[in-house]
Amino acid sequence: MLATVLHGKGDIRCEEVAEPKIERPTDAIIKLSASCVCGSDLWPYRGLQPTSGPAHMGHEYCGVVVEVGDAVKTVKPGQFVVGSFCISDNTCPHCRFGFQSSCEQREFMSGAQAPYARIPLADGTLVATAELPSDDLIPSLLAASDVLGTGWYAADAAGVQEGSTAVVVGDGAVGLMGVLSAKQMGASRIIAMSRHKSRQDLALEFGATDIVSERGDEGVARIKELTNGVGAESVLECVGTQESMTQAMNCARPGGKIGFVGVPHGVQIDGQNLFFQQKSLLGGPAPVRRYLPYLIDLVLDRKIDPGKVFDLELPLSDVAEGYRAMDERRAIKALLRV
Ligand SMILES: [Zn+2]
Repeated sequence: MLATVLHGKGDIRCEEVAEPKIERPTDAIIKLSASCVCGSDLWPYRGLQPTSGPAHMGHEYCGVVVEVGDAVKTVKPGQFVVGSFCISDNTCPHCRFGFQSSCEQREFMSGAQAPYARIPLADGTLVATAELPSDDLIPSLLAASDVLGTGWYAADAAGVQEGSTAVVVGDGAVGLMGVLSAKQMGASRIIAMSRHKSRQDLALEFGATDIVSERGDEGVARIKELTNGVGAESVLECVGTQESMTQAMNCARPGGKIGFVGVPHGVQIDGQNLFFQQKSLLGGPAPVRRYLPYLIDLVLDRKIDPGKVFDLELPLSDVAEGYRAMDERRAIKALLRV
């Protein structure tokens, strides 16, 4: 089959690879309904994350089960499934505590920018729908696999609840999903920090009440102005740079919470500064599996439309253009038809 392989910095190709097979009795093979490019795929694409040889890319997926291993009990061929980018057994102590992304058997999904993919620990990782969803819902169900689940976690970790004031740092796909999530959780004020018109528009559509285009100290000053000089109780950090983390910390009020889901690259946090700021931090890879059943229902009931985050659609064979467009910020997120 033809699938996406990253050979080195800026060198992404669609080329012939072996079809996945059941390797362990707990595996499932799915036929993907669609695939996509993630903002986090850009770190190795830009050469900012070491890679060891050609890498099979793609960790966001939904599709139809075609084969399962002998030990798989909860999903069967013909079912439509969505899974997390974190593979988890959903039975270990961390999974049962709701942190499936720290599962004792955790693996990170790869090889999903392809027509078929192998899903390890299928019982713990996959959530099946009662029936096959209609085609127009596929982008939103695909979003649930990572960006929606991650935005949701950012809002949850930031303690967003009914009536909250939330600030979202970052206008990539995850930041925009953070806006949508904060809205669903009942935030009454959602301030999106963005400098790009098309992303500002989407943020407003997803529920943002205010847009702040300034950054750094000026951005923080604007947030203070909008919050009676105190800052926000909930801040979602969805980038992962020193600048975005500092901005997020400074936008939160004392006692406020920061959910940080941008994979940190070169971020330093000063202990004494954190101590005196009195702010709480929770981040990491999102436990998407915890939220999946709920998020899938929201999509199937058409209460949310996270699939709007895909503003570019390409055949898998044009994957290189998908990476380029996202790298150059011409596209928010590229959907790949397989
Ligand atoms: Zn586990």
